[in-house]
Amino acid sequence: MAKIRLENVSKVYKGGVKAVNGASLEIKDKEFVVFVGPSGCGKSTTLRMIAGLEDITSGNLFIGERYVNDLEPKDRNIAMVFQNYALYPHMTVYENMAYSLRCHHEKKEVIESKVNRAAEILGIKDLLKRTPRELSGGQRQRVALGRAIVREPDVFLFDEPLSNLDAKLRIQMRAEISKLHKDVGTTFVYVTHDQTEAMTMGDRIVVMKDGYIQQIDTPMNLYEHPVNIFVATFLGSPQMNILEGNIEKEKDGKYFVSPGSDLRIKIPDIDLCQVEESAYPLKACLGIRPADIRIGEEGFPTVVELVERLGEQTLVYFHLPGRKDYTIASLGPSCRLLEKDPIKVSFNAEKLHLFNRETEQSLTNAVPLIKRPLSDLSPKQVDELAKRLAVKGVVPASYAFLSSDVKEEKMIDGIEIAAVVEGSKEYEDGWNYFARSKDGSVISFRSAKKIEKGAATTLYVPLSKVDLVAAEGERLTDETDVEEEVYEASLSFRPRGCFLKEETLHNHEKAYKVERSIPLGKKTVLRLLGSEKSERLIYLVESNDLIYDSMMVYMRKRIK
Ligand code: ADP
Repeated sequence: MAKIRLENVSKVYKGGVKAVNGASLEIKDKEFVVFVGPSGCGKSTTLRMIAGLEDITSGNLFIGERYVNDLEPKDRNIAMVFQNYALYPHMTVYENMAYSLRCHHEKKEVIESKVNRAAEILGIKDLLKRTPRELSGGQRQRVALGRAIVREPDVFLFDEPLSNLDAKLRIQMRAEISKLHKDVGTTFVYVTHDQTEAMTMGDRIVVMKDGYIQQIDTPMNLYEHPVNIFVATFLGSPQMNILEGNIEKEKDGKYFVSPGSDLRIKIPDIDLCQVEESAYPLKACLGIRPADIRIGEEGFPTVVELVERLGEQTLVYFHLPGRKDYTIASLGPSCRLLEKDPIKVSFNAEKLHLFNRETEQSLTNAVPLIKRPLSDLSPKQVDELAKRLAVKGVVPASYAFLSSDVKEEKMIDGIEIAAVVEGSKEYEDGWNYFARSKDGSVISFRSAKKIEKGAATTLYVPLSKVDLVAAEGERLTDETDVEEEVYEASLSFRPRGCFLKEETLHNHEKAYKVERSIPLGKKTVLRLLGSEKSERLIYLVESNDLIYDSMMVYMRKRIK
């Protein structure tokens, strides 16, 4: 059993394909995490880096507490199940499952008990004497799972294991793998391009696109609170409808309008409380899932173009302004609408999704990073933070923290901000609140407690979780106090390794290991540890994607 931690992990293949960019994620012990995304988004590469089948170009990987970047796959205690299960055709099911244990010279009784237990879990006890030729596709996949189970790995890795099976069998195996996860109680990491598999199997889902992680959350939180248009339209079938238009401010509130048409949709105040008032009119997209569209007495008039009756569900297709494609509504089986029927369409106001049309990011979710004026802080707090300044000589313009670090419990030394709760959005594990502070800006925070709208609250942020930020938005502080001298240097990456060049001579060793690298925008702080005398040095270098923790740096002193 083990947790897995990826810190800023990237992969560049030979030829320059950047398959994974700065993936950071912690998978909990015994968690079932599914990576999902379109073909080529970097899911398999991420899984193969966890397995050790692919080198990590930069970043750190931990399994349990162990740093495993350089560890051979066989020493990681993981088991991998692929779509091609590659059973040995001449061996029986029993022998196929026992094979790896025999290779490890396990005792006969141990092998027998482990294979029998795995066969029991998978319901294939009566197949043990058959050869793979005598099995169906689903049974073969079960044997492949059995082969993984007998090894009692810390982590199971699955790479599209069901994509060779037919639709009915996939549904059955999906349920079996979920059950297997409960039975063996081990960490599962599962890769698929199939959103239904992801939604039904994962405790949490990691959505990827073009090598970047887009969002990590529980299936329901992803479905109800997608962070951008990509996640919104990737999960859910039929897809979320996306309409283009503007958000305009009027006397009685804010409206989504589609220019050149009569479509006007009132937006609940809470949805936009983090958008600055000066931003209107705002180029936006409105998202609405098919099930959240109502067809009734009131609403925008249009005409039914097409009706699909799927039994439980009736899909009604029509046109709305702001969308070239059909808009689709999902209604119940009793829907009697026919093509060409005139209809009136309205949206469930609580289920509207709004996105910035240019960035495609959600306007209704919490802003993860909150920036605030230095005037919130006491002089003592400013002094405390200044001790952690890693980039000297730049004057901080503001301070910043993550909304996940905002607490309601009073804390000594924490930053204190008085605010009034303006609204909330419900999540699977609590509420996300939007509160306005005295200066008019909005702070979002998550809480498991129900807080009424209009309630005054005091929010706290631990000083240790706060960073000073420059006017251009660069982070200026390190996590711990920087008492040592910080030297400026430049790095050069050569085939023989990474070399560090600096102006002044210090009392150096030949080689240092990067204990930690802290990217601060254009500059990166390197905390170095000498490989012979354990001398510690801190350097400030130009940021570079090739820098990673634990890399070796060789000194190239300038000879004067
Ligand atoms: P996914 O599993 O999401 O389909 P992959 O991780 O397999 O995506 O691939 C991510 C990107 O890396 C793709 O652009 C793919 O073409 C590229 N890629 C994968 N494997 C290799 C390789 N061995 N050499 C070069 N490029 C690769």
